[in-house]
Amino acid sequence: TAKDAGGNQTAVYDVSYSTELEKRYEIERELRLALNDSGLELYLQPQVRENGELVGAEVLLRWNHPSRGMVSPADFIAVAEQTDLIVDLGKWIVRAALAELKRLPAPLTLAINISPRQFRKYDFVYFIEHELQQSGADPSRLILEVTENLFVEDLGDIISKMEALQQSGVQFSIDDFGTGYSSLSYLQRLPLQELKIDKSFVQAVGNQEQQAIVDSIVAIASNLRLRIVAEGVETQEQVDYLARHDADMVLQGYLFDKPLPIEDFHRNYFTS
Ligand code: C2E
Ligand code: MG
Ligand code: MG
Ligand code: MG
Repeated sequence: TAKDAGGNQTAVYDVSYSTELEKRYEIERELRLALNDSGLELYLQPQVRENGELVGAEVLLRWNHPSRGMVSPADFIAVAEQTDLIVDLGKWIVRAALAELKRLPAPLTLAINISPRQFRKYDFVYFIEHELQQSGADPSRLILEVTENLFVEDLGDIISKMEALQQSGVQFSIDDFGTGYSSLSYLQRLPLQELKIDKSFVQAVGNQEQQAIVDSIVAIASNLRLRIVAEGVETQEQVDYLARHDADMVLQGYLFDKPLPIEDFHRNYFTS
């Protein structure tokens, strides 16, 4: 390193920074190509009741990379979020997801992850309403998943937008609930239908202290008359623990199914 060589540390920092930056630009460039060249795909992960009844699905983005294969959004969404690339991606996702919602038998719902940057665009409400109209999909079967960090700034403006969409019938869910930075005080003010318990809490079932967090989230949701979706359910023990609560509970996780290519989802659930 520069330090070993007797140089200053700034040199080392600059080198790694430029590498990080180059990596970011490369991902951005390739993502834009994928967006224009049908390299992106939507997967659907089933959401079920305790008895296995299907209630809907969450839309999860996949990038079919020419050399790296199917890439999870965990590896690129953060990069896309640093620029308006996430807005373009998000528009594509909403359009593709609404086309799917239109195909999906009622009353099944479809949940889409919305990045804060996309939500904050001045025309977000108009965009969703316009796409709902174009697709002919039922707004009340659309669930928009947002994360707590959406609520750390401009809360009034965020709430007005949520209320406008709720007027159209759209539902809202807070994803990864309990892992973000915002305070609980905003919860009652938000027009919400659902809280999603983060998988880190669900997967800690068996650990007394962590279970207390699950219990508390379920209590908050029930008191606010919200549906609860437990994400990352992998074991029967977790299902049994979650089902002990008297709550409007939906389950999602590998125990039931992993995220599936759309055609597999339809084949597995709608043909006999
Ligand atoms: P998320 O919205 O919290 O989605 C849940 C993640 O948990 C998904 O990862 C899903 O594949 C994974 N998962 C589901 N069941 C299990 C399980 O039983 N065990 C474990 N270990 N994991 C499980 P995925 O698909 O890699 O997505 C990661 C994150 O990327 C998502 O977290 C979401 O924040 C973001 N993301 C995914 N698709 C989109 C999208 O279309 N738009 C935006 N803005 N973000 C997206
Ligand atoms: Mg989600
Ligand atoms: Mg989540
Ligand atoms: Mg999560």
